[in-house]
Amino acid sequence: MRKILSLTFALFAGFALPVFSDDRPNILFIFSDDHAPHAIGAYDGWLKSVNPTPNIDKLAAEGMLFQNSFCTNSICGPSRAVIQTGKHSHKNGFMNNGNSFNWDQQTFPKLLQASGYQTAIYGKSHLKGKPQGFDDWMVLPGQGLYYNPDFITPDGRKRIDGHSTDVVTELATSWLKEEREKEKPFMLMVQYKAPHRNWMPAERYLHLYDDIEMPEPPTLFDKWEDNTLAAKYNELEIDRHMDINYDLFLDLTPDYDQPASQKRQDRSAWNNMKRMSEAQLTAWRDAYGPKDEAFHAADLSGDDLVRWKYQRYAKNYLRCVKGVDDNVGNLMATLEELGLDENTVVIYSSDQGFYIGDHGWYDKRWMYEESLKMPLVIKWPGVTKPGSVNTELVQNLDYASTFLDIANARIPNDLQGQSLIPLLQGTQEGDFREAIYYHYYEYPSVHMVPRHYGIRTDRYKLMKFYQFGEQWELYDLQEDPDELTNIYETADPALVAEMKKKLEDLRLHYEDDSHEAEYSLEKKKEFWPEYSE
Ligand code: CA
Repeated sequence: MRKILSLTFALFAGFALPVFSDDRPNILFIFSDDHAPHAIGAYDGWLKSVNPTPNIDKLAAEGMLFQNSFCTNSICGPSRAVIQTGKHSHKNGFMNNGNSFNWDQQTFPKLLQASGYQTAIYGKSHLKGKPQGFDDWMVLPGQGLYYNPDFITPDGRKRIDGHSTDVVTELATSWLKEEREKEKPFMLMVQYKAPHRNWMPAERYLHLYDDIEMPEPPTLFDKWEDNTLAAKYNELEIDRHMDINYDLFLDLTPDYDQPASQKRQDRSAWNNMKRMSEAQLTAWRDAYGPKDEAFHAADLSGDDLVRWKYQRYAKNYLRCVKGVDDNVGNLMATLEELGLDENTVVIYSSDQGFYIGDHGWYDKRWMYEESLKMPLVIKWPGVTKPGSVNTELVQNLDYASTFLDIANARIPNDLQGQSLIPLLQGTQEGDFREAIYYHYYEYPSVHMVPRHYGIRTDRYKLMKFYQFGEQWELYDLQEDPDELTNIYETADPALVAEMKKKLEDLRLHYEDDSHEAEYSLEKKKEFWPEYSE
């Protein structure tokens, strides 16, 4: 059972002094950006044959894998704000990436710190401002860079050469080895930029997967025939929106600077190339140069061009994942080396899921399964049954309560999540929760995914788009796991009514009245030409 404080005696100068040693579990929270569960071998998706994640799989084999783990708002900053506060976006105030996080509010690291934990964060914070609640921190500014990144530190900006994923791990392991106060438990957050756009792999993986064809997602050529207008006016298609130069590095060099093929282009890879060393640039040219020549010679168009883009994208994405997985292995090895592995709870997660060509898309935002799901693997030696799989409906909303519960710290009443400890211990009786609640806000913005909210039970998902009149989608995930058939109009009216009641009940439960948005007919038609009232 969990111990709070144990009294030990140290012999000093011939007499016994009482020394309190706090042996509450340490918490190592490893968190990546945009890592879809189906890009993890242990999750058994359509990419399983590629399996870039032996170390995360090992963590799952030694701990518990959550099969139904979801975010509340599928985008980078807001997901992190939910984790910090244990509150939905409308409560913590960070509803979209344009917002700034109010660090003065209550967060779980502050509460852990107050309860006696030593806390640190390294890597991507994406919450703007100086982190509060940490004894030590070094965070990437904004999205951060893959190569030779700058960090914001308590002592100002600092550039560190190397690949971001390796550099962040190095900061974390150095802290464990040199800065940790041995008499205190710690909570260490290691937050990777990878595998976020623009998917720039480490040098050592630039040739990984050169010799294989990636399996294609079954829905690569989905045309969203059954979805509401929202899906049809998206801007996250591999076909029409993924830029072949800036996103996929075709012919890209530091002096490239050509007009982007679409508005709101992400040029961060091109900008990052200007900071690369000559050796890094040479490795880059050696890897992509011959492939670019082959591409030009093939003169592709139509579906063949989509397939080529998908291959290049999926390989770069999984090369970045491979780098994350290596570093999960490095962190685990460091815990063992320091004798910390037996009393440290290790969590692997990512801020949301991601489309790896599923439905023809990249990016996230939607409440559809691929972007709603988050990977969640937890290893707690002596508590989680090795190799166990949990299917209860859990959310990033639950992490703060869980971390505080692990630390035996007080859980404030205003937190909206639930501690996962009964699931980790295998003592949960009945459903952990009946349905999860979701609300996405960032529109109009990059990728043009309109605001929507909804609920998901273990079988059904109801989604409501509300900026252009009410538009609804309902899916039976048991019969239709890829969400290709919207049954809102055809389902038993009793089921629709029941789901709508559940949605309204949860909206009221979480006190969310942030869904009011008025648009003129003119504005609606500007965004969605087919719209009529
Ligand atoms: Ca993200």
